[in-house]
Amino acid sequence: MAGDGEHRDAAGSGRDGPDRETEAQIHTKLKAGEIRLYELEKQLAPVDAVRVRRGFIEHETGTTLENIGIFSIDVDRAATRNCENMIGAVQVPVGVAGPLAINGEYAKGSFWLPLATTEGALVASVNRGAGAITKSGGAEVRILHDGMTRAPVFAATGVGHAKKIADWAEAHKDDLAAIAATTTSHGKMTGLVTFVAGTSVFVRLEFDTKDAMGMNMVTIASAQVADEIAKNTGARLIALSGNMCADKKPAAINGILGRGRSVVAGVALTHELVEKVLKTDAATMIEVNYRKNLIGSARAGAMGFNAHAANVVAAMFIACGQDAAHAIDGSTCMTTIDATETGVYVAVTLPSLPVGTVGGGTGVDTQNECLKILGVAGGGTPPGANAKKFAEIVGAGVLAGELSLIGALAAQHLARAHQELGRGAKR
Ligand code: NAP
Repeated sequence: MAGDGEHRDAAGSGRDGPDRETEAQIHTKLKAGEIRLYELEKQLAPVDAVRVRRGFIEHETGTTLENIGIFSIDVDRAATRNCENMIGAVQVPVGVAGPLAINGEYAKGSFWLPLATTEGALVASVNRGAGAITKSGGAEVRILHDGMTRAPVFAATGVGHAKKIADWAEAHKDDLAAIAATTTSHGKMTGLVTFVAGTSVFVRLEFDTKDAMGMNMVTIASAQVADEIAKNTGARLIALSGNMCADKKPAAINGILGRGRSVVAGVALTHELVEKVLKTDAATMIEVNYRKNLIGSARAGAMGFNAHAANVVAAMFIACGQDAAHAIDGSTCMTTIDATETGVYVAVTLPSLPVGTVGGGTGVDTQNECLKILGVAGGGTPPGANAKKFAEIVGAGVLAGELSLIGALAAQHLARAHQELGRGAKR
């Protein structure tokens, strides 16, 4: 049932839109295949289409979707830009961790991190890490590289032809960048590298996408570039995405060359602080990191060398309207701990964080509010500043999560924390 402050979607309370009889007729037509489920917006306002579609699914599946039908986000926007065949919204609890002090090039000051999750103990853990970082004077954060990629794959007639295609693309980088520029006012093609495997040629194009995460922007620009390459070389364009991009797959190339924003965040902790906040000591933290994050990950053949970076990335991405599938990129983080004279220096290196503050899901009302909490909603001044600031904040959040979990493992507290927080509620 809806509680205080919750809204039922406009049509859910029986306002304007088709009456019950008309709705029943639409259901009959849907059932008979005379209307397709995804075509409802052609004849109904999005808010009505969503309700009628949900009603049809309830009928077909023998369910009552009263909670999926309760939401406040703008249906007109969500149903037309973010989600086809929309029937409602799933609610994910959002907690805040902080304040987290950050000394970045773009993010400077104190931040409350919105984290959308159903994993009990996660927000508390990031909160504890944030406390340690803030007490230490803040996380130092830098963007190492910035470039969203798309890599079309072409077929050549032989290996000689493959080399010619690659050479032509490399030699005409500037011309291809000019063609890409005709498709976007914010995006700029900044890089081109080629890879050949037998008769397959991959052209990995890289773009500065400013405040956009950029996958649509880059894909549209890459289509023009790929056509030009095919026209001039006789290459056969096989797929606009040839998986050397590499989008939404764990891939070494993203870890090495970077994809999206590449971020590094670090903090120096004193022995006293490690003891007081993390309830452990420097030597134990270093050993946990070495044996777990480095040796354990290597032995497992993992692409990520961290404790749970994807946890923070996923929770912040869901809260802030990022593409949730890109949490996989966050999982390639490497966590390092150096011994210092005064304690430890803990750092996270995230080579691939595809983030944006415009486009995609960033305009969905609740997600946009989370971006506002961080002061990064919309385009930055200059363009790109907001996305970089957001990337730095995510990097600092990952650092907080790593600190806390490594600390909990070092102090042998992990199971206890989950017992108390994840399973604490009386059931
Ligand atoms: P988008 O909403 O398609 O494009 C961003 C738009 O924002 C562009 O039209 C750009 O205009 C405009 N813009 C306004 N102010 C800007 C600023 N300050 N900086 C940058 N751009 C600005 O979003 P996108 O980031 O390119 O793509 C994100 C979406 O792609 C997500 O929904 C994601 O799920 C999806 N996605 C797509 C693919 C794919 O292969 N197509 C793959 C994975 C994910 P101009 O271009 O005219 O400058």
